Amino acid sequence: MIYAVTLDLDDTLWDTAPVIQRAEEVTHGWLEQNFPRITARYSVADLMDLRREVSANEPERAFDFTYMRRKTFHIVAQEVGYPPAEVVDFAFAVFLRERHRVTLFDDVLPTLQQLHGQYRLVALSNGNAEIDRIGLAHLFEFALCAREVGRPKPHPAIYTSACARLKVQPHETVHVGDHLEHDVAGAAAAGLRTVWLNRQRLVSGVQTTADAEIHSLIELPEVLDDLRRTGDK
Ligand SMILES: [Mg+2]
Repeated sequence: MIYAVTLDLDDTLWDTAPVIQRAEEVTHGWLEQNFPRITARYSVADLMDLRREVSANEPERAFDFTYMRRKTFHIVAQEVGYPPAEVVDFAFAVFLRERHRVTLFDDVLPTLQQLHGQYRLVALSNGNAEIDRIGLAHLFEFALCAREVGRPKPHPAIYTSACARLKVQPHETVHVGDHLEHDVAGAAAAGLRTVWLNRQRLVSGVQTTADAEIHSLIELPEVLDDLRRTGDK
């Protein structure tokens, strides 16, 4: 039996790169208005480079994007002589507001609405998007992010935590995501069944251990029916 379906967020429910790029630019514009000495010294690209550097220096926390962004704002504020306490919370709030202005792929709402009530739905993400800020919370039972469980995908922790909280067995749960390592390999290692959402139709013949491959979420309800039947054998 399949009782629960866990879904990745970034690049599964929306295209992430343009959202982050715009959020970086809007945040930089806000800094320019409010703390101009920062932007006089750091371009958008400089801030991104600095954040990568901060992550590289603390690889064990690199998956905690909230921490890395806040730390980057802290460093640059200090560097140009603004009290970090006056900059960090506000700059990060501007970034987060923009980061939640996503455009859902067309297949997201119809599919989630169809699955809701039929399966228990959970959002599992390595990122810092929150489903309630995107207007999706009513369709999910809960969401877990890497930051909360302390390890990022593909580590099995987020998957085993979700199953424990649902009180369902991993093999009674299907994870759906776009990333072959984070979503497919990670969830499979935790004992979940897996569906690879291959929106880009990457070269066929890619070796994948996914139980099924789909190109649109519209295919998901039928694939879940199939998995349920094969699981019952
Ligand atoms: Mg993803």
